[in-house]
Amino acid sequence: MIKTAVCIVGAGPAGASASLMLSKLKIEHYIIDKAIFPRDKTCGDGLILHAYKSLLTLGLLDAFLTNSKFIHSKNINLYIKDNLNLQFKESEDRDMAISYGKRIDFDHFLVNEMSKQYTTCQFGSGVKNLEEVAEGIRITLKNGKQITAKIVVGADGIQSIVSRKLAGFIPNKNKSSTFISAYFNNVKMPLDKAAEIRLYYRKMPLFFYVFPLANNEVNVSLGGNTQKLLDNNINLKEEIESIIKTHPKVADKFIYAEQIGAWRGWGIPYHFKKQTICGNRFLLVGDAAGLANSFYKEGVGTGMMSGIICAKKIASCLKENNFSETFMSSYKKDIDNEFGKLLRFSEFALKLANFKAIFAGFARFSKKFVEKKAPGIIKKRSY
Ligand SMILES: Cc1cc2nc3c(=O)[nH]c(=O)nc-3n(C[C@H](O)[C@H](O)[C@H](O)COP(=O)(O)OP(=O)(O)OC[C@H]3O[C@@H](n4cnc5c(N)ncnc54)[C@H](O)[C@@H]3O)c2cc1C
Repeated sequence: MIKTAVCIVGAGPAGASASLMLSKLKIEHYIIDKAIFPRDKTCGDGLILHAYKSLLTLGLLDAFLTNSKFIHSKNINLYIKDNLNLQFKESEDRDMAISYGKRIDFDHFLVNEMSKQYTTCQFGSGVKNLEEVAEGIRITLKNGKQITAKIVVGADGIQSIVSRKLAGFIPNKNKSSTFISAYFNNVKMPLDKAAEIRLYYRKMPLFFYVFPLANNEVNVSLGGNTQKLLDNNINLKEEIESIIKTHPKVADKFIYAEQIGAWRGWGIPYHFKKQTICGNRFLLVGDAAGLANSFYKEGVGTGMMSGIICAKKIASCLKENNFSETFMSSYKKDIDNEFGKLLRFSEFALKLANFKAIFAGFARFSKKFVEKKAPGIIKKRSY
């Protein structure tokens, strides 16, 4: 039986960032993942705002910027209608508003940076069970190994066993999106590598993303609210194939395109404030805490930043030798201070997007203001 002060379950961006921050704070810990890295994860592969802020905080921004697997652009185009778009542009003196990196590379980049001194990795066997015992939380892996920790971090994604077992998490299809994604090559992309995001209406708003990658491949994805997709009987694969073949503003770019691999689907949870994210001896981060942005789907950056905030909370728990629910509760406030306003505004924007004409009117009305404010907003929340 292994005993440790801290055990992180999940080594995606949220868990890896928690580990990197714990090491900066000189705190020894275990980190478990069912996968062996490099491992892939279905994603749009876009990195914005809090991803930059986290990389900067962790001292990894320069290594990220000089890594040839990641590329960068100053421009994001959000098309509300074919002839109405909002441009989120970085100012002349700054370098990027969005970066792109395949998750197989980005997550491996983070895992490779983990400390040899403070981190013990247990990769290749998933967590099967968690139970409270006198000394803490006992974690049992599928390979039979057991680890007892004073405090557990749930960084195990949307289907988190930690949040189910310790926080009583109940999945909520109204508070998550379902997306499908695939890689293509030979797609005609703009020279400035701008991100293309389109709102596309099919009885409900769907979000269509085209993100370029370092090897000239392109990540193409489509999705929307999980419950609404079910209610409206929408088949995402049929919809995205139809967009690529027939959409007047999209089809031209895909004339010579070749799909690499199959469409892959996965969920994006945004239930922050609706479910418990901390309690006696546990803290949840990233998708396990439902921290993805409901409107523009940033989940990597919010996951990383929550990992950093969580590591700081752990440092104070260990200092005070206090792992109680009451002591943990300030974590919720810290998360709210970091993301609360933005997550709430994004939920409001998503609700408004259900009303196509009103949303378009709102976008047209606020276009100049939003575009002028964009560089300031990016700067405040990123690097
Ligand atoms: C199609 C799609 C497109 C997206 N596009 C973007 C985008 O462009 N930009 C963006 O910022 N976000 C995007 N997201 C959201 C983003 O992918 C997630 O929010 C992000 O991966 C969350 O990181 P995480 O570390 O919390 O969880 P994950 O990345 O899911 O990592 C969880 C880790 O836990 C491990 N794990 C799971 N269960 C167990 C277990 N029982 N035992 C041990 N280990 C376990 C997994 O192997 C995994 O390594 C997208 C999501 C989807 C589905």
